[in-house]
Amino acid sequence: DAKQARSGVAVYEPGRDEVHLRQLTLMGDLRQSLVRGQLSLRFQPKVDLATRQVKHAEALLRWRHDDLGAIPPDEFIPLAERSGFVHELTRFVLEQALQQNSLWREQGLDLGVAVNLSAMDLMDADLPDFIQACLRRHRVPPPRLILEVTESALMRDVDYAVRMLHRLRASGLRLAIDDFGTGYSSLAQLKRLPVDELKIDKSFVTQMTEGSDDAVIVRSTIELGHNMGLSVIAEGVENDSSLVLLERYRCDMVQGYLFSAPLEGGALMDWCRNFAG
Ligand code: C2E
Ligand code: CA
Ligand code: CA
Ligand code: CA
Repeated sequence: DAKQARSGVAVYEPGRDEVHLRQLTLMGDLRQSLVRGQLSLRFQPKVDLATRQVKHAEALLRWRHDDLGAIPPDEFIPLAERSGFVHELTRFVLEQALQQNSLWREQGLDLGVAVNLSAMDLMDADLPDFIQACLRRHRVPPPRLILEVTESALMRDVDYAVRMLHRLRASGLRLAIDDFGTGYSSLAQLKRLPVDELKIDKSFVTQMTEGSDDAVIVRSTIELGHNMGLSVIAEGVENDSSLVLLERYRCDMVQGYLFSAPLEGGALMDWCRNFAG
């Protein structure tokens, strides 16, 4: 405002106050969203390239705010991390995802379900016990749960992350490194992580074309993953030209709008049946 402007300290940034106000509003409303039933999951298929079968479905959180409409997870997850609410949010997602998984199972669809963890979840010492109890509650075989943790979350404190991953893995679930290629991990660090799956970040995949830098990166990441005994998945597959290259490079799984957007649990089941048949 005028006073600050005269002092020469504060510079007016258009929209800054509005952004701040929105963040405060959302942070305050997030807690209520759970009890008010505004949160739900969508599921996006991960397709096995060799067998053309859906192996897993990734659970993606959605928030429909009463006044502001759909709030993207990229916006509210960081707020949940700042307010400490993310632990409850993650438990909600795990509960819902495993419940959905057992519904699919009852109807004859044997799928894995992938759940995203936030960086702060790695600091949650009670999480492994919660997950184990949750798997039992919903009678889901542990290998049918995949936890996705971003490379950058793992790199914050590698020693701690390695210990936590071992604890999580003790119950028999599977682990994936998400957004791989954006977190600057070294090979030495990567070697120490007890993971099963490597997920190439969509920023390399979406626009890859023959001979492009992206294609070179994707190809060498697939080789790296395979040399480490990992299953490699490409996310953000939007067109046939990416798919053709990913097949040539022997990528294990693909996920993206080319196959399907994230769907409600029931719709995902129908989609899987049609895709297989
Ligand atoms: P992510 O885990 O990397 O998820 C992939 C994102 O890419 C999802 O966005 C998905 O809808 C979108 N996507 C899928 N196919 C395509 C495609 O072909 N092209 C492009 N450009 N995008 C595609 P979404 O659902 O908006 O989620 C964004 C991020 O929010 C996620 O990135 C994840 O980091 C976070 N997130 C979502 N749900 C949860 C959750 O339950 N817990 C936590 N901790 N984070 C979540
Ligand atoms: Ca993910
Ligand atoms: Ca990702
Ligand atoms: Ca991401």
